[in-house]
Amino acid sequence: MKYHIVQLGCQMNISDGERVQQVLEGMGFVATDKEDEANLLGVIACSVRQKGIDKVYNMVAKWNKWKNRKNLITFVSGCVLPADKQKFLKMFDLVFPMSQLPQLPDMISQYGVVSAASIQSLDAGFGDLVKTNHHVAPNPAAFRLNPAAYKPVQVEILPQKPEDHIKDFWHITPKYGSGFEAFIPIQNGCNKFCTFCAVPYTRGREVSRPSDEILNELKHLVGKGFKAITLLGQNVNSYGLDKKGGEITFAGLLQKIGEFGLESKEDFWVYFTSPHPRDMSDDIIEMVAQYDCLAKQIHLPVQSGDDNMLVRMNRNHGMGKYRDIVSTIKRLIPQATLFTDIIVGFTGETEEEFNNTMKIMGEFKYNMAYIAQYSPRPGAASSRWADDIPHDEKKERYHRLTDEMMKHTLDYNRQLVGRTLKVLVRGNDRKSGYLSAYTEGRIVTRFKCDQEDMVGKYATIKVTNAAPLSIEGELVN
Ligand code: SF4
Repeated sequence: MKYHIVQLGCQMNISDGERVQQVLEGMGFVATDKEDEANLLGVIACSVRQKGIDKVYNMVAKWNKWKNRKNLITFVSGCVLPADKQKFLKMFDLVFPMSQLPQLPDMISQYGVVSAASIQSLDAGFGDLVKTNHHVAPNPAAFRLNPAAYKPVQVEILPQKPEDHIKDFWHITPKYGSGFEAFIPIQNGCNKFCTFCAVPYTRGREVSRPSDEILNELKHLVGKGFKAITLLGQNVNSYGLDKKGGEITFAGLLQKIGEFGLESKEDFWVYFTSPHPRDMSDDIIEMVAQYDCLAKQIHLPVQSGDDNMLVRMNRNHGMGKYRDIVSTIKRLIPQATLFTDIIVGFTGETEEEFNNTMKIMGEFKYNMAYIAQYSPRPGAASSRWADDIPHDEKKERYHRLTDEMMKHTLDYNRQLVGRTLKVLVRGNDRKSGYLSAYTEGRIVTRFKCDQEDMVGKYATIKVTNAAPLSIEGELVN
């Protein structure tokens, strides 16, 4: 039995997908890249853009046509808004929140798919009342498979509380997509309600994963030789606050990781993404400064450099607070690189407000800014407001801001020329005969080398050339 999963969206969805794969392979399914070979087709959806959701509708329409000629089960999970969920219930066989992944084998076996688990379930018989808050629709394929055994499953829909189930989800060991880089989810959901974002509606409120589980997963990965580990969450630095004193804070978690780094004497880099400026306390920055294993790279989303825009975005901080954080970072960790996220052309953004964002590029000298042209995100508060900046204007602001960013990234990268840097090798570069890598500050790097066995290891290079978004070097050892 083969499965094929389509993963859309952010690093959190990629990390969730690693756990989905583990569950399916635990049931005996084998992954295939070819969707038309699969008996189980799933999508981990992203609601950040309407385009992403449109893709899901197109995919399932195609898959449903295939059901006329083969035994096939489809499922959808991930970031799904309530309105889309109602439509998906009619189109997918299984619709469930990611927090209910541990129940996926039961859902599939109830559905009649041909796997060892489902055959046992068929023997046990259908027809019991199944109390569930996932959707199980009648499956004609299951009927064709074994009409005698098939009785419709009665489903009682219970209220959904993803936070009640997420703990079991975290107990699933993921099928890591790499042997040297990994994500560790430390939290799920978000309480911030930025007006442009739908995450609080798709993932629910913030729930922190127990710190002992996080530390165990990290120690396990380091023991296996992983070199770059990223702590993931929608608001990593509000970690623990939902437990009201019953869990350590994010700074406390970083300290424990830092102490483990010292004791183990292993060489690894730990990143985190994304923190929210509102919860960025000095003790977090102090921890990064203090411990070698905490990578000297901070991703601090700003979204806009203008106070009025930050109010309309409901970011709950002003540029004064953001400036204080950046100056603490530059004082305590002068070598740290600084990354950010910015939205241009948000509802009502004036030229003056946009210019305030242009100015912070020079002020903070970001090493990377992920710049998005605003488009209303279904389900987010701002989707009810006029999307009143013309497309061409958004595009023009995007290019102006990108050009401004590249002036500063090029300045920074040029200062690296002649320096000797440690890099983590990721794989072959697009340029033939070169390997691709990144520095501790996540500056993309390439160097001439044909030894593919260096992938997943640290190397030392001497920087010879600089471009706005990357550097090039020669292998030293
Ligand atoms: S902090 Fe804002 S942008 Fe980030 S997930 Fe929460 S609502 Fe979305």
